[in-house]
Amino acid sequence: MEQSVWGSLKITVNGNSGQHAAECGGCGWWLWPGSQAYRIPGLRGTYCSVACVETALFGQEHCRWCGEEMAGRYMSIESRLCSEDCRTNFWAHVWGDRTAQCGSGKRLAVWLQRKEPRTYRQLVVADFQRVQITPTYLQSGAY
Ligand SMILES: [Zn+2]
Ligand SMILES: [Zn+2]
Repeated sequence: MEQSVWGSLKITVNGNSGQHAAECGGCGWWLWPGSQAYRIPGLRGTYCSVACVETALFGQEHCRWCGEEMAGRYMSIESRLCSEDCRTNFWAHVWGDRTAQCGSGKRLAVWLQRKEPRTYRQLVVADFQRVQITPTYLQSGAY
């Protein structure tokens, strides 16, 4: 998991000790004061994991790939894919090679890039810095 990339979206849950302060917007798990949880710009709620963030973004009445809101009754997964592009990506990377399966953060990255480009850029910068400070594979001579 790219812990340090998504880590910059984490907050410390506030509240009185001994009482749960909030519930995860994905799974309903209790979030205790002092624990770490995800808060995503442009998305309401607090989340215990990237999987729960992606459940909220791409579940229910949302396109399973891009998170666009979709009206209409749920008939099948096809009724929750808003465009040809989304359909192609979903079948290729969620059901296919599973590189974008729930919790991978791939679809969250695509969503941020489109909806919250400023946050996305900060994450990319953070990722770059992470690579810079752990350059073992760059020094190995393999390059
Ligand atoms: Zn959760
Ligand atoms: Zn879509």
